[in-house]
This record gives sequence, structure tokens and C-alpha cells, in this order.
Amino acid sequence: MASGGGNNRNGTHRNSLKGTTTTSTVSTDKPLSVNSNPSKPAFKNKSSPLTGASSGLRKSSPGSLGGGAAKDDAGVPGRVRVAVRLRPRNAEESVADADFADCVELQPELKRLKLRKNNWDTDTYEFDEVLTEFASQKRVYEVVAKPVVEGVLDGYNGTIMAYGQTGTGKTYTLGRLGEEDTANRGIMVRAMEDILAEVSPEIDSVLVSYLQLYMESLQDLLDPTNDNISIVEEPKSGDVSLPGATLVEIRDQQSFLELLRLGEAHRHAANTKLNTESSRSHALLMVHVKRTVKGREPAHSSDNGNSTSMARSLRPPLVRKGKLVVVDLAGSERIDKSGSDGHTREEAKSINLSLSALGKCINALAENSAHVPVRDSKLTRLLRDSFGGTARTSLVITVGPSPRHRGETASTIMFGQRAMKVENMLKLKEEFDYKSLARRLDIQLDKLIMEHERKQKAFEVEIERMTAEAQNRISEAERNYADAVEKERLKYQKDYMESIKKLEEKWMMNQQNQGNERKEQMVHIAEEVAEVKKLLSKETSLRKAAEEEVDNLKSQLAQLKMSEASANSEILKLRKMVEDEVCQKEKLEGEISMLQMGLQKILSLLEAEDADVRIHAVKVVANLAAEETNQQKIVEAGGLKSLLMLLGSSDDETIHRVAAGAIANLAMNEKNQELIMSQGGISLLSTTASHAKDPQTLRMVAGAIANLCGNDKLQTKLRGEGGIKALLEIVKCGHPDVLAQVARGIANFAKCESRASTQGSKTGRSLLIEDGALPWIVQNANSDASPIRRHNELALCHLAQHEVNAKDMISEGALWELVRISQDCPREDIRTLAHRTLASSPDFIAGLKRLRINY
Ligand code: ADP
Ligand code: MG
Repeated sequence: MASGGGNNRNGTHRNSLKGTTTTSTVSTDKPLSVNSNPSKPAFKNKSSPLTGASSGLRKSSPGSLGGGAAKDDAGVPGRVRVAVRLRPRNAEESVADADFADCVELQPELKRLKLRKNNWDTDTYEFDEVLTEFASQKRVYEVVAKPVVEGVLDGYNGTIMAYGQTGTGKTYTLGRLGEEDTANRGIMVRAMEDILAEVSPEIDSVLVSYLQLYMESLQDLLDPTNDNISIVEEPKSGDVSLPGATLVEIRDQQSFLELLRLGEAHRHAANTKLNTESSRSHALLMVHVKRTVKGREPAHSSDNGNSTSMARSLRPPLVRKGKLVVVDLAGSERIDKSGSDGHTREEAKSINLSLSALGKCINALAENSAHVPVRDSKLTRLLRDSFGGTARTSLVITVGPSPRHRGETASTIMFGQRAMKVENMLKLKEEFDYKSLARRLDIQLDKLIMEHERKQKAFEVEIERMTAEAQNRISEAERNYADAVEKERLKYQKDYMESIKKLEEKWMMNQQNQGNERKEQMVHIAEEVAEVKKLLSKETSLRKAAEEEVDNLKSQLAQLKMSEASANSEILKLRKMVEDEVCQKEKLEGEISMLQMGLQKILSLLEAEDADVRIHAVKVVANLAAEETNQQKIVEAGGLKSLLMLLGSSDDETIHRVAAGAIANLAMNEKNQELIMSQGGISLLSTTASHAKDPQTLRMVAGAIANLCGNDKLQTKLRGEGGIKALLEIVKCGHPDVLAQVARGIANFAKCESRASTQGSKTGRSLLIEDGALPWIVQNANSDASPIRRHNELALCHLAQHEVNAKDMISEGALWELVRISQDCPREDIRTLAHRTLASSPDFIAGLKRLRINY
């Protein structure tokens, strides 16, 4: 030991240290018990006895728990510091004990607790700290635990224990995690916070074990399978260790909280399995802190005054090891010896064993008894180096306010009182490793000297080299600089002279030229300006006039537009009236003629020599034919025949138009349709169409054919005589009214054909397709004119009903139209028809797939 034998830190407690040893690794402060009996545990009782024993009142004790006094005189035997904490009334007590006073009364400023014996008598006890029901967790930590934690960081072992009846707040005081509110954090969490704040993660270590002691079996709460951990005591140092327990290195607060949570979960699981309550077991948290202390004298050598600066610089690394044990003791209440709470007598004994052994040890220590029975239980064995022995110990005893538990409260208080008499001998655990340090330092020193020499040499050489080089560079730079300056100077001089010369010449020339030119230019410019001005004023007046004219015209136009609009509507009205009049007149004429001359006579006039008569007559017939009631008579009288004849014989377009109209009207009747066909109506109508110039004529012809198309029986004949071809010819005219009739005809035809195919009387492709109508149908299936569109859509749907038409339809692009119809045709029946058709035809389905139409 550096300080030499017998050099003690504190002269008044010489006997607490032993002499030097020659081993390189030593425990510096080897504790000795006062009576120097090595077979006895290193416990010592306090010399000053209780005062006021009859009232249970102790003399005032110094400072806060385990604080100042013990720390200041490190090495002085320390006493167990005892605090009492009162739990507030809980909800049940507030109701049940409402009419009773609390069984304890606290006087925190006097550090006294009064225990009510009866209505008129109390016992008073003094503690190191009295914590009322209002004491915050922070304050409890600071007075109970903080001094112990600081001791651990300085290399002392430390113990914090909570003792008390179940439900009085032991776990609340020690184990609360404070997740819901950080103000509620208990001692374990706060202690770890302080430890982590002090250690350096690179060189120090914090290792934690978490255990449960139940019925003398020690279980690892971090590894529940490990449920019988043995306790090893090192005979020489008296250190207690648990080689079988899981040790977890803690680097941050979060991982510590997780560890506590895990331990708590395992504790719960283990107790459920054993069918016990955690109030019957002790929970022990052990925190091993190893710190390397830099820049501080070892405590034992600080007073010897022999340290030289050399010695200081070669100070060995100082490692301080401290162990903090936090013990949440089992409930202090007596277990029913009868075993009525589910335990046998033996079990009840065993459950109590550790706690009663702890009580016995405390008693023995307090009474300075020759024998302290530490070996009686696992708990006392475990706490051997933490409680009593060489550690700083704080005990918090927890009590409840309820007078119903006065007995338990009293016994808790007595336990605390006895514990206050136990003295601890503090042991600073510092370890040095001089040999390895010296070796390491020697090698390091050698290396450093060599390195230094080498560097010194290299440095000198380098300096020399650099100096020479710098000298060279400087003189070269100076030379170059002088040369460059001279060169530049000459160049600038030359340039300057040349520029001056050039400028002078230019100036002279400019002077001459400017004199002459300027005069001429001025005259010229003045003239031009005058002219431009003139032009400008002329332009301006012209523009003004033009603008006025435009305004004028605009207002005239507006007037005209207004009068035109009114005139137009007037004209339309008049026209309508005239048309109505004509219509009425013709009708009346027809009727008059019928009445006067009879139908026969009128029909005969159709063949009159006089063209005007013929025209007149055909108009009369047409008007008659417009009325359904007359149609039969006209046909019977041979009118249809005459009308057809007129189509063939007349060249007059008016006659053609009116006759075709009449035929169209007559063709609404099925019987007449057959007649028309049998009398060569199709060819007559198509010839008429081919010569027609007036779209109205074409409309009549197309209308007539369209009506014929709707007859099931006439399909083949109609097609055979060129009916479809005629319709497709007519299409060329392009007039929407005409196209609408054509489309109607095609739709009618398609409908009849479809019906025939369904009935089986028709096979093979549609005749419409055969005759090349499909492209037109497809083209006009989405026409803007709704009648054209509707008929064509219908025609497509009919055609699509029959698989034989599918291939042609696909190749002509009808598929797209069908898809469109199935999606947005305003008529629901057509939409559904199209949809059904598409969905049921294999060819269409394949076509859709090929065209990648998502359907
Ligand atoms: P023990 O561990 O001693 O059996 P607990 O810590 O489980 O007792 O406390 C019992 C109940 O009393 C818990 O609900 C706890 O929250 C509550 N409690 C204990 N001490 C206090 C206190 N100081 N302030 C408020 N509630 C407390
Ligand atoms: Mg508890």
C-alpha cells in the first residue's frame, strides 16, 4: 500500500484499518469488528443506548438518513438510518374509519411519531426521518435513498429496505415505475437515474440482478427457470455473491424500466404458479456499479503528504465497486400459524423464516449480542455484506393510519426502533493493480521516449530542409518579381502612348466631319419631321372619321338585327298559317271532290292530260290517303295502282313526291304492303329515288320502303327486288330526315329477320350484311341525330343476336358500338339487350378479349 503501514485515514478510528499487504491487488479497508473477533460478523452495535426508554423516545439522531455524518467520516461505523412513512387513508379506510382518529400522529419537524395507545395515552418514537402522508416520492428518495446511492457510487455497498404490513406502501415507495406520471417514480427508478448520470458508459459498468426470495428459495426474476440460486460467501472478504443469477448490463434508463417490468411479470407468473401472493415474498434488486475514478487520490493515501508529482502522474487506475441492494420485504404481518390461509404450519414457518431471522439479527446487533444469527436464513445471508456489516443502510418502515391495524403498526415501529441501533462499518472498496500498471507504464514510457527521439531528429532535419528551400524560393521569387514589374511597366507605357496617338487622330477627324454633316442632317431632319407631322394629323382625322362611321354602322346593324328578328318571327308565323290554310283547303277540296265527284272520278283524273289537273288530283288523293279511314276505299278503287303508275309514268318531281307520300301512308297497312310489292312497288320507288332531287321526295320514298321492311313475309322479296340497295342509295343525300327513314327501314328489316332466325325460318348471314348495309349502320350508330342513332342501335342489337353475324360485325367495328350501347344507351331495354348479347356470344367475348376491352 502506497501510504505505508499504519497510516490511517482517520486517527480516531485506527482499529478500522489493518496494515499493509504486499500483494498487488488488495482490499484497502479491511473491516475489523470492534471486538476484533474474526469469527463474528463485522457488525457493531451503537454505543449510546436509548434514552427515555419508557416512552420509546430516542435521542435526536444526526442529519438525514445515511447522509452527512456517515459520509463525512467515511470509515466511521455508520448506523442504519430509519425513516417512517405513513400511507394516506385509502378509500376504504376513509369510509370505515371515518369516525376514528388515525392510530399514528406525526411530528415531522421533531422527527417524531406518536402511536396512540388509547384515547388519552400515546407513545412517542423518534426516527431519522418522519415522512407524512403528504411526502412526495422525490422527497422520500432524497432523504431515504440518495445518500446510499451516492455511497454506492463512491464504492460502498448500500442497502435500502422497506419493511411494513402488506398494503402500507412498500412497493409504492420502492418499485413504482411512474409510467403514468413521472412524479410517482419510486426509489429503484430514481436510484438508477442517478447512477446512470454519474457513470461513464465507456469505462464503467452497471450490472443488475433481480430476484425473489420465497420460502427460502431464491428465484431469478430475469430467468424464471432459474429458481434455486445459491449464495456464495467469500470467507476472506465476507463478500456475498450469487454466481447463478442473471446479470444484465444496464446502459440506459429505458432498458432498466423494461427489466423491472419483465421482473415484475415473472414475479406475478411465479406467484400465480405457486399459488402465493407477492406480499409473502421478498423482492431484491441488486445493482453492481464498477467505476474507474480518474484524477483522484486513493482515499487512504490522501493524508500522508508524501505524494510527489511523479507519483501523482503515475497514479494507478482506481476502480471502485459498489453494490446497491433494494429489498422490498414481505409483509410484516404475522401469518396465521394455524395455516388457515391455505398453508401448513411448516409452510407458514418457512414463509416467515427470513423475515423473523432479519428481526433476530437486528435485535442481536442492537443489543450488541455476542452471536448474530446471520446464517439462519437466506435473506440475512444475502444481506450480510449489505446490512449491518460494511454498508450504508437505509430502512423505510411503512405504516398505515388505520386504528384497526394498531397492533401491526406498533410492531413495525418497534422493528424500526431496534434497527436504528444497528451500526454499520463502512468499507470503501478500492482495488489497485500496481504491477500491471507499472509494466504498462514502463512499456509506454519506453515507447514514448523512442518516439520522441525519432520525432525530434526528423523534425530538425525537416526544419533545415525547409529553411534552405524557403531561402531559395524567396530569392527566386524576388528576382521574378523585379523582372515582371519592369516588363509590365514598359508594356503599359507603350500601350499608353499608342492609345493617346490614336485618340488624337480620331478626334481631329471627327471635328472635321461633324461640321459639315451636322448641318445637312439638321435641315433634312427638320423637313422630315414636318412631313411626318402632317401625315400624322391627316391620319388622325381619317381615323376619327372612320371610327365615327363604324359606330354609326354598328348602331344601324343593331337596329337592323332587331327588326330582322321580329320580321323573321312574323314570317314564320305567317308561313305556318299559310301552310295550315293550304292543308285545310286541300283536305276540304278532297272531301268536296269526294262528295261531288266520287273517288272514282278523282282517281281517273290522275291520268288526265293536263299536268296541273294531275298534280291537283294526286294531292287530293294523298290528302285522302293520310286519313286511315279512307285508305281502304282508295285501294279498293284502284288508287294504289294509279299512284304506282304515276311514279313510273310522270317526270314531274312534285307528282313523284306527293304520290310517294301517299304510297308511304298506304304502306302502313299489311295488306297494302303485299299489294305494293306485288305491283313492283320496290323497283318503282327505287327508280323514283334515283331521279329525285328534292330530299322530301326521298324522305317519302324511304318512308314507304321502311314501312315495307317491317313486314315479315316480304323480307326475301323486298331484298330480292333491291329494296335494301335502294335504301343505301338514298343515304347519299345526307339529309337527316331522309337518313332517319332509312335507319327506320333497316331497323324494321333487322327486327323481322332476327325474328325469322329465332323461329328457324331464316338461316345464314343477315341480308342486310349481304347487301353491305353494315358499314353504314355502324357509322351512324352514334349519330348526333337521335332518331338515326336509335334505329341503328336497335338494328345492331338485332343483328348481334345471331352468331352468324358476329364475325362480320366484329370486323366492321360493331363491337365497340355494342359496348358503348350496353353502357350508355338512354333506353334501358336496348342497353340490356346489348349487354346480354355481348355477354352470351362466344365470338364477341373472344373479340373483346382480343381488342383488350375490359368488359
Ligand atoms: P405494500 O407493497 O406495502 O403491500 P403497496 O405499495 O402495494 O403496499 O401499497 C398499497 C396501496 O396503497 C397501493 O394501492 C398503493 O398505490 C397505495 N399507496 C401506498 N403508499 C401510498 C402513498 N404514499 N400515497 C398514495 N398511495 C399509496
Ligand atoms: Mg408490495
